[in-house]
Amino acid sequence: MPILGAHKSIAGGLHKAVERAAACGCQCVQLFTRNATQWRAKAIEAEDARRFRRALDEYQIGHPMVHDSYLINLASPDRRLWRRSVDAFVEELRRAHLLEIPYVITHPGAYTSSTESAGLGRIIEALDEVEPQVRDCRAGCLLETTAGQGTSLGWRFEQLAAILDTVRNPDWLGVCFDTCHVFAAGYPLGTSRQYEATMKAFDRVIGLDQIRAIHLNDSAHPLGSRMDRHAHIGRGHMGLAPFRHLLADPRFQQVPMYIETPKGERRGVDWDVINLRTLRRLSP
Ligand SMILES: [Zn+2]
Ligand SMILES: [Zn+2]
Repeated sequence: MPILGAHKSIAGGLHKAVERAAACGCQCVQLFTRNATQWRAKAIEAEDARRFRRALDEYQIGHPMVHDSYLINLASPDRRLWRRSVDAFVEELRRAHLLEIPYVITHPGAYTSSTESAGLGRIIEALDEVEPQVRDCRAGCLLETTAGQGTSLGWRFEQLAAILDTVRNPDWLGVCFDTCHVFAAGYPLGTSRQYEATMKAFDRVIGLDQIRAIHLNDSAHPLGSRMDRHAHIGRGHMGLAPFRHLLADPRFQQVPMYIETPKGERRGVDWDVINLRTLRRLSP
């Protein structure tokens, strides 16, 4: 049985994300520990962390996961933005550590006005700069596969491999596999044969053992579109088949899976409930 959960809002307090996850039948939860569109973040007090941990215990929610702020761009050619991103990323890891959350998931970054190789170089430099500052933190970092929209890096498996193979210490790093992003990046997952070929490619280039989290999202745009827009499970261009393969894959039964599908309510029904129900039905 796969471990299924969702990204949840922390409005009202960090522990609220756990309560929200429990209310829609999640077994795991992903959250921002701060407003993801602002640089400034309120410090996490000891009491906030205690309440958060207590909620996980009380509601039996496991595998808490942090997604970092959208402002962070470790690939930026802009020295100031890059520095600010490095500092903010250190902060993200410290916050995760305070909450005893094992990983912070990040998009590797966008090279904007520079080049792919310059961008990859900046990311490697950033991770090498962050790592010694967080040696006392138990939280590691997961690089997320991206859709490759605009100048975003991490959409080709080779780009993630280049980062993991070049950083000074890869031990604190892993990968988060986002289905929508991988599909939009041009890797088909529909038929069993396509699914196996994509996983084989991932294994050859990066290694499937690097996958420590999975994001389950359908895609609002077609295969290879390199557009990052999530859709409800089975209602986008991916359809249900890729999820059926993934949920039945014995290699991922212990890897927590989170939906990041659109929120909003339909006739008073929570969409997360609908999407999780669809996924449970597809699970073996
Ligand atoms: Zn993400
Ligand atoms: Zn994602």
